[in-house]
Amino acid sequence: MKVLIVEDEHRIASSIKKGLEMENFVVDVAYDGVEGLDLASTGDYDCVLLDLMLPGMNGLEVCRRLREERIHTPVLMLTAKGELDDKIKGFDVGADDYLTKPFSFEELLARVRALTRRSQTVFHPVLEVDDLRLDSRSFEVIRQGVKILLSRKEYAVLEYLMRNRGRVVSKDEIISHVWEYDADILPNTVEVFIKNLRRKIDRPFERNLIKTVRGFGYKID
Ligand code: CA
Repeated sequence: MKVLIVEDEHRIASSIKKGLEMENFVVDVAYDGVEGLDLASTGDYDCVLLDLMLPGMNGLEVCRRLREERIHTPVLMLTAKGELDDKIKGFDVGADDYLTKPFSFEELLARVRALTRRSQTVFHPVLEVDDLRLDSRSFEVIRQGVKILLSRKEYAVLEYLMRNRGRVVSKDEIISHVWEYDADILPNTVEVFIKNLRRKIDRPFERNLIKTVRGFGYKID
């Protein structure tokens, strides 16, 4: 799951980022409205946390333009106390939920989870492909009853493939959904991660689940 934080207060942004990373989210941060809109417009995120008062362009405007561009990523508005009218305006421009500062991280996490759940047509916390099972609540990956230990990024690549089960995903798609936007990742790096994943989830078992579709990318089924 990939989240964008648009927040000009660096301290708040970095504490939310750290917290979400602990929960295995991939997190990008934009510190002003213009950059925020730019990144959110890629549609690569599962959720956008959008501060209201931002330099460059305020959160309402960012949200309005995003919806104009037909980007339907769930937006959680972060508003300061007493900006009640702005909350209502937030819903007018297409925000999905709001949270009043100061908030606890637990509350933020609960909202983010609820929004990302809603965004997927059908949310399955447990993903299964053949005898491979991934539990996105406990981050456990099990095949034929054997628990498989994956690095954080290997897990993210696998989760992305499994959520897109049966569909060919390109290396570029994997990069934009699994890595931060400023990470300097080349398609070759994806190959390395796929190779490691195969070594762990396929090689010890009879059937290979990860398939290479030459010239296009990978698929799992
Ligand atoms: Ca602000």
